[in-house]
Amino acid sequence: MNEMAGEGSSDSRCPICLERIRNVSYLNPCFHGFCFVCIQEWSERKAECPLCKGMYAFCASYCMLK
Ligand SMILES: [Zn+2]
Ligand SMILES: [Zn+2]
Repeated sequence: MNEMAGEGSSDSRCPICLERIRNVSYLNPCFHGFCFVCIQEWSERKAECPLCKGMYAFCASYCMLK
C-alpha cells in the first residue's frame, strides 16, 4: 500500500545541491549520503567528503546501497 515513498519517511538533504537526495550514494568509509550525480561531479574535483572532509573511496556501483 505504501509502496511509493511519500513525505516524511526520509527527509535527508544533499549537502551539495541542498535538495532532497535522489539516487542516494554513500561514501566509504564515512557513509555520508549524497545524490549520485552530485557526488559524482564532486569526486571529479575533490577526493574528500564535502561534509567531514575525510578522504573517501568513491565507487559508483558498490557505494549505491539504496
Ligand atoms: Zn545533490
Ligand atoms: Zn563524510
